[in-house]
Amino acid sequence: MSAPPATRGPTRADAMARDAALGDLSRRDDFALPPGRLYFDGNSLGPPTRAALVRLETAAGQWRDDLIASWNTHDWIHLPQRVGAKIARLVGAADDEVVVCDSTSVNLFKVLATALVLRPGRRTILCQDDHFPSDNYIADGLAALVPDVEVVRFRCDQGRLEALDAALAAHPAAVVSLGHVGFRDGRLLDMAAVTELVHHHGALALWDLAHSAGALPVDLDACGVDLAVGCGYKFLNGGPGAPAFLYVARRHHDAAETPLPGWLGHADPFAFEPAYRPAAGAARFVCGTPPVLSLAALDAALDVFDGVDLERLRALSLSLGDLFLELAAARLARYGVECACPLDGAVRGAQVVLRHPDADAAIQAAIARGLVGDHRAPDLLRFGLTPLYLRHVDVWDAVEGLDAVFSNGEHRQERFRRRGIVP
Ligand SMILES: *Cc1c(COP(=O)(O)O)cnc(C)c1O
Repeated sequence: MSAPPATRGPTRADAMARDAALGDLSRRDDFALPPGRLYFDGNSLGPPTRAALVRLETAAGQWRDDLIASWNTHDWIHLPQRVGAKIARLVGAADDEVVVCDSTSVNLFKVLATALVLRPGRRTILCQDDHFPSDNYIADGLAALVPDVEVVRFRCDQGRLEALDAALAAHPAAVVSLGHVGFRDGRLLDMAAVTELVHHHGALALWDLAHSAGALPVDLDACGVDLAVGCGYKFLNGGPGAPAFLYVARRHHDAAETPLPGWLGHADPFAFEPAYRPAAGAARFVCGTPPVLSLAALDAALDVFDGVDLERLRALSLSLGDLFLELAAARLARYGVECACPLDGAVRGAQVVLRHPDADAAIQAAIARGLVGDHRAPDLLRFGLTPLYLRHVDVWDAVEGLDAVFSNGEHRQERFRRRGIVP
């Protein structure tokens, strides 16, 4: 049985016209993207900038030539704070509120524990039920260690405030752990409204910015957020396993205690004092020796945002998403492909998500054609969008590629069903 004909939808020339009309951010040439590849997976692993690749060599040369002196001469020692300050500007924070260290999961552990210290009368951690699994595993792990702490999961119910309001009324929580953009459905929560509601109930708001930092404007200070964490290797393009960041609002700095008081979060690490004394600000959350090579790459990668207006980046990103969904409805619905993210750009992050029972093989077949997206079990196809290097015409070519995958029946071919451990 052959599929019914496609409704046409915008043409490639239409897509190019949108590029011409909206302009771009002039950052495409800053990236070292392999030719012939359409990269829509920057939400899982951002591609390298040319500057980051050069910087990796520079950092390796510093190690080779200057050895241990580099901690001072190249100021390696302050990389967690210096890179944190660069990220602070992207997420609406002050320089001393953000620090770069460890992984997102480890940082989440630290700030969740901090929240329990900041709200001593409360013993509940409220978690979004459809949160990134690691975030909820970490909350469970912390609760298992700390007496009387319990984790309660609430149904986020498509970001409707009533569900959270009811959960908070039933469970007076110390902290609510939230994802700014859902990793599966790409739904963007209203940070200002949710944070206000959380505060109304006397709890602290902890946001995971893994899918929003670098992808859209974030305003932690203006929203009154208490704590946040986020990823260095997604939209910030810091490289595989890049260290993550954490944010602590300045009003909490004096009382914020880290559960992992390592020597490099000490006020004076090289005094080697017998007891821990916290460094000022978010810097106390640095635990051990910073991963200099990874931090150097992230440091250089962040320079691609210099001079980028995040409101404009957001507008372009939404336009890319709108075109993707418009084309998917016109050309892919006939194969049974559905939209699995909000159509309304106001509540959609920087990814589009489609649903099809053969999502896994369809993505593998698309990758074989040079179109890189990813698959989330059981039936989702995800495509990350950033106008730093993607244009409307790339979106058009991507949907053209998906159309070819389905019309050729590649999504049913056995050779595309095999995959590695990482989907
Ligand atoms: C990607 C992601 C993480 C990853 O955490 P790591 O510990 O850095 O591997 C955590 N939370 C969310 C919401 C994510 O999307």
